[in-house]
Amino acid sequence: MHTTKTDVVIIGAGPAGSVAAALLAQKGWSVEVVERTHFPRFSIGESLLPQSMTFLEEAGLLDDVDAANFQFKDGAAFHLNGVETSIYFPNKSARGPSTTYQIRREVFDTILAKGAAKKGANVVFGEEVVAFESDDAGATVTVRNEQGGERNIHARFALDASGFGRVLSRLLKLELPSNFPDRRSVFCHVKDNISDDTFDRNKILITINPNNPEIWYWHIPLAEGLSSIGAVGPSDAILAAGATDHERLWSLLGEVPRLTQLLEHATIVRPVNTIAGYACKVSSLVGPNYALLGNAAEFLDPVFSSGVTIALKSASLACDLIDRSLRGESVNWNTEFVDELYVGIETFRACVETWYTGRLQRIIFNRPEQMTDAVRMLTSVLAGYAWDRDNAIVREPQRMLRLLDELSAR
Ligand SMILES: Cc1cc2nc3c(=O)[nH]c(=O)nc-3n(C[C@H](O)[C@H](O)[C@H](O)COP(=O)(O)OP(=O)(O)OC[C@H]3O[C@@H](n4cnc5c(N)ncnc54)[C@H](O)[C@@H]3O)c2cc1C
Repeated sequence: MHTTKTDVVIIGAGPAGSVAAALLAQKGWSVEVVERTHFPRFSIGESLLPQSMTFLEEAGLLDDVDAANFQFKDGAAFHLNGVETSIYFPNKSARGPSTTYQIRREVFDTILAKGAAKKGANVVFGEEVVAFESDDAGATVTVRNEQGGERNIHARFALDASGFGRVLSRLLKLELPSNFPDRRSVFCHVKDNISDDTFDRNKILITINPNNPEIWYWHIPLAEGLSSIGAVGPSDAILAAGATDHERLWSLLGEVPRLTQLLEHATIVRPVNTIAGYACKVSSLVGPNYALLGNAAEFLDPVFSSGVTIALKSASLACDLIDRSLRGESVNWNTEFVDELYVGIETFRACVETWYTGRLQRIIFNRPEQMTDAVRMLTSVLAGYAWDRDNAIVREPQRMLRLLDELSAR
């Protein structure tokens, strides 16, 4: 089989793969990215967090994103039973960007992939990674094109950024069951036709179902009068809501007067779709000359829009280590990549768990004025600054969230 060589091969051109490719190419390494689909292609994950802007800037991709006229985002609004509150990211405790965007992923992912290519990465579309081997000398991926032809790429290091494709966790049997229950989401895009002035397009709106707090909705305003709408909940509860995904989404939306009113004149522009059982984890994020990034490694839950931020953080950490190790420096992947990445993953895990027990919902709706410092720390985490060790919630997420709940219950 024909074999080509490169310094780093990357599986998948989603946000993790393209940002990693740009970071490595701008450090002078040869990079080949293999992407199964053809761009532009739809993907879920449309509301970014301000922390992700740092990684886009580091990869030299922020100017291209800024130029794309995506919907500005400065926080998150929450709605329950007619009561609305919001988290305003500029009130965060951490330094760094306070605002971000709500994006159409087919546009965003294309910009990142083109940006990586402009920096010198070789990004190939319509080819799928089907086999993988690695040892102390490097890694070899086998790639199949749409005509069935196969070739090998030998690299000094391989990154799996295949997202829900989970290429290496399947091929190397790294998959572990997630601790989270089986949840399902139904979602679509609408031309929203919202004329209500009280609706803040600069924030994602998270609404809790009035009858079942385990069901929640996202309403992500996008540019050009579009909105992404979704409902998330236990799979059985979502499936019980109708016979088709379309029926399920619209009957669940119908249970919330505020959403019914907001979407009164909406017309669907992307049909209702579904995704289920998305939470995942693996037994190891690293092995001989490979590492797993973003969703290929771990996915928690969509509620705090943390997916793309975690994906970009993993790319940033890994590329620094690859650069140093390819230059001959010794690096410790377990402490410098795995342990470090898990600082943020565990912070978000605590938030997600606390959300579904109802405690974080209580904190968000009841937070009293005198909790200013604590609220700024929570705002920071929800803005994506989940690796900031100056933040007590990052250092001790479970204990601090319990404490916040006790304070907000007074
Ligand atoms: C319901 C839901 C809502 C979400 N909402 C948000 C949100 O609002 N904000 C947010 O930040 N995150 C959100 N997420 C998470 C977000 O979708 C992911 O975290 C993010 O897309 C991860 O990026 P990635 O680069 O790791 O993977 P992906 O974006 O999945 O990219 C992986 C790429 O790899 C390619 N690929 C797969 N297999 C192969 C193969 N064998 N060979 C070659 N290429 C391959 C795929 O085609 C794809 O292009 C949501 C997730 C869900 C399930």
